[in-house]
Amino acid sequence: MTESPVVLVTGASRGIGRATALAFAAAKARVVVNYHRSPEAAQAVGQAVQEAGGESLLVQADVSQPEQVDRLFDQVLHHWGRLDVLVNNAGITRDGLLVRMSDADWQAVMGLNLDGVFYCMRAAVKVMLRQKAGRIINITSVAGMMGNPGQANYSAAKAGVIGLTRTAAKEYASRGITVNAVAPGFIATEMTAELPAAKTAEVLKLIPLGRYGQPEEVAGLVAFLGLHPAAGYITGQVIPIDGGLVMD
Ligand code: NAP
Repeated sequence: MTESPVVLVTGASRGIGRATALAFAAAKARVVVNYHRSPEAAQAVGQAVQEAGGESLLVQADVSQPEQVDRLFDQVLHHWGRLDVLVNNAGITRDGLLVRMSDADWQAVMGLNLDGVFYCMRAAVKVMLRQKAGRIINITSVAGMMGNPGQANYSAAKAGVIGLTRTAAKEYASRGITVNAVAPGFIATEMTAELPAAKTAEVLKLIPLGRYGQPEEVAGLVAFLGLHPAAGYITGQVIPIDGGLVMD
């Protein structure tokens, strides 16, 4: 590829998605900043991408909705004509114990964190098959590997993402497409800011490195998988970035 890579990051208006957009921008990529409900934050990310040396395209889309995903991909292809890297990052939590979990909370989390990943992967693979190249990175979670009390919906969706990742890696390896998952532990973003102080203290005791991770640390790993030549030989993997929380 002679031109700079085109990278789509879903849920890039804040947190890990924002940091990921900026990590790709630092590598001079053309970055699609997808967002749903935060246009002003997304605008600021688009500006920061350009200041970091990349190009940006902002696209509002709820990626849990298949027709909005189709429109998102149409816009990317219309604007830049290709897609080299997809980062499925958009995600939500609706925590609660299983016995009390409402259908709505189950469906909202599955709808974005699993169905949304499927819709975006399906659209991206079609483009990448034509290009005979592409890299997909799905953001899962250690909760999808270990389970986590209060997160039946979230853990099930994130475990589903691991199955999707491995299956797609096997289906499309022969066509030059790699598919990997990154499994963050506890990362300092708005998502974890909601945790009560007592829970935070409990969590820190379980993390060998004794601290939360930073979004930029996750972003560095994602950018490596998306762009580095060495990552061309990595596919179907689930890579924890969690301060040592999960050790097989
Ligand atoms: P966050 O700070 O809450 O940000 C979530 C992002 O997702 C926002 O940019 C939001 O955009 C976007 N989003 C929400 N609903 C969307 C939708 N329907 N369509 C498109 N975008 C949507 O979350 P985060 O902590 O950075 O988490 C990012 C990813 O990492 C998630 O998949 C999460 O499950 C995973 N993860 C996080 C942690 C952690 O400790 N933080 C740990 C493990 C895994 P708008 O505001 O524009 O709607």
